[in-house]
Amino acid sequence: MEQGIRIEGLSKRYGEGDTAVDALKEVNMSIAPGEVVGLVGPSGSGKTTLLKCLGAVIEPTRGRMTLGGEVIYDGEQGGWKTKDLRALRRDRIGFIFQAPYLIPFLDVTDNVALLPMLAGRPNGASRARALELLQALDVAHRARAQPSELSGGEQQRVSIARALANQPPVILADEPTAPLDSERALAVVRILNQMASQYQTAIIVVTHDEKIIPTFKRIYHIRDGRTVEEVGEGRGIS
Ligand code: ADP
Ligand code: MG
Repeated sequence: MEQGIRIEGLSKRYGEGDTAVDALKEVNMSIAPGEVVGLVGPSGSGKTTLLKCLGAVIEPTRGRMTLGGEVIYDGEQGGWKTKDLRALRRDRIGFIFQAPYLIPFLDVTDNVALLPMLAGRPNGASRARALELLQALDVAHRARAQPSELSGGEQQRVSIARALANQPPVILADEPTAPLDSERALAVVRILNQMASQYQTAIIVVTHDEKIIPTFKRIYHIRDGRTVEEVGEGRGIS
């Protein structure tokens, strides 16, 4: 079975008639488990629309998306394969945003354990999973702390642990390094690469951060809703 994520001929039209906007035009992408790719393009090129389609936040107009070996959307075959898009987002897709968005009244462990709990895993197993991830991300010593007691870098590592909590086949990262200086931005990319390979997750990083673009081995450029794949420099993360 084909793992990772594959997008074929994906199109998205907003509105209809004279005012319709074709935000995505037959986009193709394929990301293997363990791979981190960049998605780069100017404002208005379709980056957010593509992430929202992948994240099952909006419905594409046409095309096909396969996640972890399963077709999740097929425009020729009735659209979404599941009626429960909330469960799809919660259990099968990890999200990392520009800000960590931790829940202030839960400690670090429960911030990470919450998603497996919501997915129906027992509390003990969910917390054990959270601790394992916090260890992998070097923040296990902060497991009982409140988010407000953490540094910005620690908060972001916790948000990465949270994205991995349900072992999703894909993680969507929207400008995860935008507010960071060069050293911290590269540290985040290093962590994303480690986690992708350790947990065999495919990671898509939407960015226009010049500091991290040279680190990608593969980059998708998007312009006017069309993607072009490029071999990146893939040099700078060691
Ligand atoms: P990016 O994230 O790369 O800046 P977007 O995906 O936000 O690009 O937008 C792609 C195109 O789709 C733009 O022309 C934008 O104006 C249009 N667009 C985005 N969202 C909507 C919407 N909800 N309704 C109509 N047009 C939209
Ligand atoms: Mg955008």
